[in-house]
Amino acid sequence: MDIQLNKYKLPSLPYNLDALEPYISKEIMDVHYNGHHKGYVDGINKFIDRYIQVLKGETTYDIQGIIRGIVFNLNGHKLHTLFWQSMAPAGKGGGVPGGILADMINKQFGSFDNFKKIFIETANSLPGTGWTALYYDPENNSLQIMTFENHFNQHLAELPVLMILDEFEHAYYLQYKNKRADYVNAFWNLVNWEGAENKLRKYLTQ
Ligand code: MN
Repeated sequence: MDIQLNKYKLPSLPYNLDALEPYISKEIMDVHYNGHHKGYVDGINKFIDRYIQVLKGETTYDIQGIIRGIVFNLNGHKLHTLFWQSMAPAGKGGGVPGGILADMINKQFGSFDNFKKIFIETANSLPGTGWTALYYDPENNSLQIMTFENHFNQHLAELPVLMILDEFEHAYYLQYKNKRADYVNAFWNLVNWEGAENKLRKYLTQ
């Protein structure tokens, strides 16, 4: 039986490893991108090889374990790609959004400061390991803030995510230790609002 399933590749980082300093150190970015993100991509490809063996009937298998491995690594990969896009080099990111994204934030949250306060409170409320995301819900033309744990939300990586924050310990521990809230605050100096608005515009015209 001839079965083909394309592999995944580690996308290039949209800036240098040290571009986010002093808010996120080069050391963290090296471990995070070259270690963790690459590990998820390698992980998916390893599970794809096993999956192909299963599809060909070449091996006895634990299908639940294989699918769980694919879901964990594939979501990890896609979410990290979105996380890198959510930030811009220090000095270029941060500030406040403009255009239609600013209009939507002001309409729904009253002000950018109120939106930021709610996002930070949401991020700080996350127990353990996971993510906080701002996404666009086309169903009622609204912005939503969502937290979720680990990597096991199969659908989130394909939702219209505008901006997302990684809250795994590997994202901050080397620099911020147990002060996660300081890392959450520092993230606001890096948010790529231009990129977030471009994503929103793309979704609005679909
Ligand atoms: Mn991560």
